Amino acid sequence: MNKLQMIYEQAKQRTANGQVASYIPALAAANGDLFAVSLLSAEHEIELGDCTETFTLQSVVKVISFMVAANYHGIEEIMHYVDVEPTGDSFNSIVRLESHNNKPFNPMINAGAITIASLLPGETMFEKVKSVTTFLEQIIGKKVHINNEVYFSEYQSADYNRAIAYILQANGFLKSDVEEALQVYLQLCSISVDVSDLAKLAFYFATNGKESEAICNKGVINIAKALMITCGMYNASGKFAAFIGLPAKSGVSGAIIAVVRNGEIEQLQGPIGIGIYGPAIDQVGNSVAGIEFLMHLSKEYDLFCL
Ligand code: GLU
Repeated sequence: MNKLQMIYEQAKQRTANGQVASYIPALAAANGDLFAVSLLSAEHEIELGDCTETFTLQSVVKVISFMVAANYHGIEEIMHYVDVEPTGDSFNSIVRLESHNNKPFNPMINAGAITIASLLPGETMFEKVKSVTTFLEQIIGKKVHINNEVYFSEYQSADYNRAIAYILQANGFLKSDVEEALQVYLQLCSISVDVSDLAKLAFYFATNGKESEAICNKGVINIAKALMITCGMYNASGKFAAFIGLPAKSGVSGAIIAVVRNGEIEQLQGPIGIGIYGPAIDQVGNSVAGIEFLMHLSKEYDLFCL
Protein backbone atom coordinates (compact mmCIF):
# COMPACT_ATOMS: atom_id res chain seq x y z
CA MET A 1 0.00 0.00 0.00
CA ASN A 2 1.51 3.37 -0.94
CA LYS A 3 1.36 6.55 1.14
CA LEU A 4 -1.70 7.86 -0.71
CA GLN A 5 -3.68 4.65 -0.14
CA MET A 6 -2.74 4.72 3.52
CA ILE A 7 -4.01 8.29 3.86
CA TYR A 8 -7.24 7.23 2.14
CA GLU A 9 -7.74 4.18 4.42
CA GLN A 10 -7.04 6.20 7.55
CA ALA A 11 -9.46 8.96 6.49
CA LYS A 12 -12.18 6.45 5.59
CA GLN A 13 -12.34 5.32 9.20
CA ARG A 14 -13.50 8.83 10.11
CA THR A 15 -16.80 8.42 8.27
CA ALA A 16 -18.12 6.95 11.55
CA ASN A 17 -17.59 10.36 13.21
CA GLY A 18 -19.97 12.23 10.90
CA GLN A 19 -23.62 12.13 9.92
CA VAL A 20 -25.37 12.52 6.59
CA ALA A 21 -27.27 15.81 6.12
CA SER A 22 -30.74 15.35 7.56
CA TYR A 23 -32.48 18.67 6.90
CA ILE A 24 -33.35 17.64 3.31
CA PRO A 25 -35.16 14.27 3.28
CA ALA A 26 -33.56 13.04 0.02
CA LEU A 27 -30.04 13.74 1.36
CA ALA A 28 -30.82 11.90 4.60
CA ALA A 29 -31.09 8.69 2.56
CA ALA A 30 -27.36 8.72 1.63
CA ASN A 31 -25.04 5.99 2.92
CA GLY A 32 -22.65 7.61 5.39
CA ASP A 33 -20.05 4.83 5.04
CA LEU A 34 -19.18 5.81 1.47
CA PHE A 35 -15.91 7.56 0.74
CA ALA A 36 -14.46 8.26 -2.71
CA VAL A 37 -11.50 10.29 -3.90
CA SER A 38 -10.33 11.18 -7.39
CA LEU A 39 -7.07 12.99 -8.14
CA LEU A 40 -6.44 14.29 -11.64
CA SER A 41 -3.36 15.75 -13.33
CA ALA A 42 -2.77 16.51 -17.03
CA GLU A 43 -1.58 12.93 -17.59
CA HIS A 44 -3.08 10.65 -14.93
CA GLU A 45 -6.10 10.04 -12.76
CA ILE A 46 -6.05 8.11 -9.48
CA GLU A 47 -9.35 6.90 -8.06
CA LEU A 48 -9.79 5.46 -4.59
CA GLY A 49 -12.91 4.03 -2.97
CA ASP A 50 -16.56 4.25 -4.03
CA CYS A 51 -15.98 6.16 -7.27
CA THR A 52 -19.02 4.93 -9.19
CA GLU A 53 -21.40 6.67 -6.77
CA THR A 54 -23.34 9.70 -8.01
CA PHE A 55 -24.47 12.53 -5.74
CA THR A 56 -25.56 16.16 -5.98
CA LEU A 57 -23.20 19.13 -6.14
CA GLN A 58 -25.01 21.16 -3.46
CA SER A 59 -22.91 24.17 -2.46
CA VAL A 60 -20.02 23.25 -4.75
CA VAL A 61 -22.15 24.66 -7.57
CA LYS A 62 -21.99 28.12 -5.97
CA VAL A 63 -18.48 28.62 -7.36
CA ILE A 64 -19.64 27.84 -10.89
CA SER A 65 -22.78 29.98 -10.76
CA PHE A 66 -20.68 32.86 -9.47
CA MET A 67 -18.26 32.49 -12.40
CA VAL A 68 -21.04 32.31 -15.00
CA ALA A 69 -22.78 35.41 -13.60
CA ALA A 70 -19.53 37.38 -13.15
CA ASN A 71 -18.29 36.43 -16.59
CA TYR A 72 -21.55 37.67 -18.08
CA HIS A 73 -22.06 40.92 -16.13
CA GLY A 74 -18.47 41.77 -15.18
CA ILE A 75 -17.12 41.89 -11.64
CA GLU A 76 -17.96 45.54 -11.06
CA GLU A 77 -21.67 44.97 -11.72
CA ILE A 78 -21.74 41.77 -9.62
CA MET A 79 -20.14 43.60 -6.69
CA HIS A 80 -23.19 45.91 -6.57
CA TYR A 81 -25.21 42.85 -5.59
CA VAL A 82 -22.85 40.57 -3.64
CA ASP A 83 -19.70 41.27 -1.65
CA VAL A 84 -16.62 39.05 -1.32
CA GLU A 85 -16.25 39.10 2.48
CA PRO A 86 -16.33 36.00 4.71
CA THR A 87 -18.96 35.82 7.47
CA GLY A 88 -18.03 33.06 9.90
CA ASP A 89 -21.76 32.24 10.03
CA SER A 90 -23.45 29.05 8.85
CA PHE A 91 -24.33 28.74 5.16
CA ASN A 92 -28.04 29.44 5.54
CA SER A 93 -27.72 32.13 8.21
CA ILE A 94 -30.08 35.05 7.97
CA VAL A 95 -28.57 37.00 10.84
CA ARG A 96 -26.44 39.47 8.87
CA LEU A 97 -28.89 40.34 6.15
CA GLU A 98 -29.88 43.50 7.97
CA SER A 99 -26.31 44.71 8.41
CA HIS A 100 -23.75 45.59 5.71
CA ASN A 101 -26.24 47.68 3.65
CA ASN A 102 -28.41 44.56 3.40
CA LYS A 103 -26.03 43.21 0.78
CA PRO A 104 -25.14 39.49 0.93
CA PHE A 105 -21.60 39.00 2.21
CA ASN A 106 -20.37 36.60 -0.45
CA PRO A 107 -21.59 34.19 -3.18
CA MET A 108 -20.66 31.07 -1.16
CA ILE A 109 -23.38 31.50 1.46
CA ASN A 110 -27.02 30.91 0.52
CA ALA A 111 -27.97 34.60 0.52
CA GLY A 112 -25.25 35.45 -2.02
CA ALA A 113 -25.89 32.33 -4.07
CA ILE A 114 -29.62 33.07 -4.34
CA THR A 115 -28.83 36.60 -5.52
CA ILE A 116 -26.36 35.14 -8.04
CA ALA A 117 -29.03 32.67 -9.24
CA SER A 118 -31.26 35.63 -10.08
CA LEU A 119 -28.44 37.30 -12.03
CA LEU A 120 -27.61 34.36 -14.29
CA PRO A 121 -27.90 34.97 -18.04
CA GLY A 122 -31.26 33.96 -19.55
CA GLU A 123 -34.87 35.13 -19.55
CA THR A 124 -36.38 32.03 -17.98
CA MET A 125 -35.60 29.63 -15.15
CA PHE A 126 -34.70 27.01 -17.74
CA GLU A 127 -32.21 29.30 -19.52
CA LYS A 128 -30.60 30.40 -16.28
CA VAL A 129 -30.06 26.80 -15.15
CA LYS A 130 -28.78 25.94 -18.61
CA SER A 131 -26.18 28.73 -18.51
CA VAL A 132 -24.56 26.93 -15.57
CA THR A 133 -24.99 23.34 -16.76
CA THR A 134 -23.54 24.24 -20.16
CA PHE A 135 -20.47 25.81 -18.55
CA LEU A 136 -20.04 22.78 -16.27
CA GLU A 137 -20.50 20.35 -19.16
CA GLN A 138 -17.70 22.11 -21.07
CA ILE A 139 -15.41 21.57 -18.10
CA ILE A 140 -16.21 17.95 -17.33
CA GLY A 141 -16.79 16.89 -20.94
CA LYS A 142 -20.17 15.22 -20.52
CA LYS A 143 -23.87 16.03 -20.10
CA VAL A 144 -25.20 16.52 -16.59
CA HIS A 145 -28.76 16.19 -15.29
CA ILE A 146 -30.72 17.48 -12.33
CA ASN A 147 -31.62 14.92 -9.66
CA ASN A 148 -35.33 15.76 -9.46
CA GLU A 149 -35.91 13.75 -6.30
CA VAL A 150 -33.34 15.88 -4.46
CA TYR A 151 -34.64 19.06 -6.13
CA PHE A 152 -38.29 18.49 -5.12
CA SER A 153 -37.22 17.43 -1.65
CA GLU A 154 -35.22 20.65 -1.28
CA TYR A 155 -37.95 22.81 -2.74
CA GLN A 156 -40.48 21.41 -0.28
CA SER A 157 -38.19 22.11 2.68
CA ALA A 158 -36.87 25.50 1.58
CA ASP A 159 -38.39 27.68 4.31
CA TYR A 160 -35.07 29.23 5.32
CA ASN A 161 -33.98 29.87 1.75
CA ARG A 162 -37.38 31.35 0.92
CA ALA A 163 -37.12 33.66 3.92
CA ILE A 164 -33.66 34.76 2.77
CA ALA A 165 -34.96 35.35 -0.78
CA TYR A 166 -37.80 37.56 0.46
CA ILE A 167 -35.38 39.69 2.48
CA LEU A 168 -33.11 39.97 -0.57
CA GLN A 169 -36.06 41.00 -2.72
CA ALA A 170 -37.26 43.59 -0.20
CA ASN A 171 -33.84 45.22 -0.31
CA GLY A 172 -33.36 45.20 -4.09
CA PHE A 173 -30.84 42.34 -4.22
CA LEU A 174 -32.87 39.99 -6.37
CA LYS A 175 -33.10 40.37 -10.15
CA SER A 176 -35.94 37.86 -10.59
CA ASP A 177 -38.95 36.98 -8.46
CA VAL A 178 -38.49 34.94 -5.31
CA GLU A 179 -39.78 31.60 -6.62
CA GLU A 180 -37.73 31.75 -9.82
CA ALA A 181 -34.53 32.57 -7.90
CA LEU A 182 -35.22 29.69 -5.50
CA GLN A 183 -36.02 27.23 -8.26
CA VAL A 184 -32.85 28.12 -10.16
CA TYR A 185 -30.72 27.97 -7.01
CA LEU A 186 -32.14 24.63 -5.84
CA GLN A 187 -31.99 23.01 -9.27
CA LEU A 188 -28.32 23.97 -9.48
CA CYS A 189 -27.68 22.46 -6.03
CA SER A 190 -29.32 19.25 -7.35
CA ILE A 191 -27.01 18.69 -10.34
CA SER A 192 -25.87 15.07 -10.27
CA VAL A 193 -22.13 14.29 -10.62
CA ASP A 194 -19.53 11.70 -9.64
CA VAL A 195 -16.19 12.17 -7.94
CA SER A 196 -14.26 12.15 -11.21
CA ASP A 197 -16.39 15.11 -12.41
CA LEU A 198 -15.38 16.95 -9.24
CA ALA A 199 -11.70 16.27 -9.94
CA LYS A 200 -12.13 17.71 -13.44
CA LEU A 201 -13.78 20.79 -12.00
CA ALA A 202 -10.95 21.23 -9.50
CA PHE A 203 -8.42 20.68 -12.29
CA TYR A 204 -10.03 23.55 -14.21
CA PHE A 205 -9.06 25.85 -11.33
CA ALA A 206 -5.65 24.23 -10.94
CA THR A 207 -4.81 25.18 -14.54
CA ASN A 208 -6.61 28.55 -14.36
CA GLY A 209 -9.04 27.36 -17.00
CA LYS A 210 -6.40 26.47 -19.58
CA GLU A 211 -7.06 23.51 -21.87
CA SER A 212 -10.80 23.68 -21.27
CA GLU A 213 -13.65 24.60 -23.56
CA ALA A 214 -15.28 26.61 -20.77
CA ILE A 215 -14.08 30.15 -21.29
CA CYS A 216 -13.91 32.34 -18.21
CA ASN A 217 -12.21 35.67 -17.61
CA LYS A 218 -8.92 35.13 -15.71
CA GLY A 219 -9.85 37.77 -13.12
CA VAL A 220 -13.10 35.92 -12.40
CA ILE A 221 -11.25 32.61 -11.92
CA ASN A 222 -8.88 34.35 -9.51
CA ILE A 223 -11.77 35.73 -7.46
CA ALA A 224 -13.45 32.30 -7.46
CA LYS A 225 -10.26 30.81 -5.97
CA ALA A 226 -10.00 33.63 -3.42
CA LEU A 227 -13.62 32.96 -2.43
CA MET A 228 -12.85 29.28 -2.02
CA ILE A 229 -9.95 30.11 0.31
CA THR A 230 -11.85 32.64 2.40
CA CYS A 231 -15.39 31.20 2.35
CA GLY A 232 -15.33 27.79 0.62
CA MET A 233 -15.45 25.47 3.61
CA TYR A 234 -18.36 27.05 5.49
CA ASN A 235 -17.45 28.50 8.87
CA ALA A 236 -14.39 26.26 9.07
CA SER A 237 -12.78 28.13 6.15
CA GLY A 238 -10.21 29.85 8.39
CA LYS A 239 -9.05 26.58 9.93
CA PHE A 240 -9.00 24.88 6.54
CA ALA A 241 -6.81 27.67 5.11
CA ALA A 242 -4.54 27.63 8.16
CA PHE A 243 -3.98 23.88 8.38
CA ILE A 244 -4.55 22.58 4.84
CA GLY A 245 -3.87 25.66 2.74
CA LEU A 246 -5.66 24.88 -0.54
CA PRO A 247 -8.54 26.62 -2.34
CA ALA A 248 -11.52 24.31 -1.79
CA LYS A 249 -15.32 24.22 -1.79
CA SER A 250 -17.62 21.77 -0.05
CA GLY A 251 -21.32 20.92 -0.13
CA VAL A 252 -23.67 19.25 2.35
CA SER A 253 -23.90 16.18 0.13
CA GLY A 254 -20.31 15.48 1.26
CA ALA A 255 -18.76 16.75 -1.98
CA ILE A 256 -15.46 18.67 -1.92
CA ILE A 257 -13.25 20.10 -4.65
CA ALA A 258 -9.69 21.05 -3.73
CA VAL A 259 -7.19 22.75 -6.00
CA VAL A 260 -3.44 22.08 -6.16
CA ARG A 261 -1.75 24.63 -8.41
CA ASN A 262 1.54 22.74 -8.54
CA GLY A 263 2.28 19.55 -6.66
CA GLU A 264 3.53 16.00 -6.77
CA ILE A 265 1.31 13.18 -5.51
CA GLU A 266 2.57 9.70 -6.45
CA GLN A 267 2.63 9.66 -10.29
CA LEU A 268 0.71 12.97 -10.58
CA GLN A 269 2.71 16.12 -11.21
CA GLY A 270 1.98 19.80 -11.80
CA PRO A 271 -1.57 21.16 -11.50
CA ILE A 272 -3.82 18.61 -9.74
CA GLY A 273 -7.58 18.62 -9.21
CA ILE A 274 -8.99 16.71 -6.25
CA GLY A 275 -12.60 15.52 -6.01
CA ILE A 276 -13.99 13.96 -2.84
CA TYR A 277 -17.31 12.37 -1.89
CA GLY A 278 -17.92 11.47 1.75
CA PRO A 279 -21.54 12.07 2.79
CA ALA A 280 -20.88 11.77 6.53
CA ILE A 281 -20.43 15.47 7.38
CA ASP A 282 -19.48 17.40 10.51
CA GLN A 283 -21.40 20.12 12.38
CA VAL A 284 -20.53 22.88 9.91
CA GLY A 285 -21.27 20.80 6.78
CA ASN A 286 -17.88 19.44 5.63
CA SER A 287 -17.18 15.76 4.87
CA VAL A 288 -15.39 14.40 7.95
CA ALA A 289 -13.34 11.85 6.02
CA GLY A 290 -12.72 14.42 3.29
CA ILE A 291 -11.19 16.92 5.73
CA GLU A 292 -9.08 14.20 7.34
CA PHE A 293 -7.87 13.06 3.92
CA LEU A 294 -6.94 16.57 2.76
CA MET A 295 -5.23 17.36 6.05
CA HIS A 296 -2.84 14.41 5.75
CA LEU A 297 -2.48 14.74 1.98
CA SER A 298 -1.43 18.40 2.29
CA LYS A 299 1.11 17.58 5.02
CA GLU A 300 2.58 14.41 3.52
CA TYR A 301 2.91 15.78 -0.01
CA ASP A 302 3.73 19.36 1.02
CA LEU A 303 0.83 20.94 -0.85
CA PHE A 304 0.09 23.99 1.37
CA CYS A 305 0.07 26.84 -1.13
CA LEU A 306 -0.92 30.07 0.64
N1 GLU B 1 -29.21 23.09 -1.16
C1 GLU B 1 -28.60 23.43 0.01
C2 GLU B 1 -29.35 24.49 0.76
O1 GLU B 1 -29.48 25.59 0.38
C3 GLU B 1 -27.16 23.81 -0.19
C4 GLU B 1 -26.50 23.49 1.04
C5 GLU B 1 -25.02 23.37 0.98
O2 GLU B 1 -24.48 22.46 0.33
O3 GLU B 1 -24.40 24.21 1.63
O4 GLU B 1 -29.84 24.23 1.80
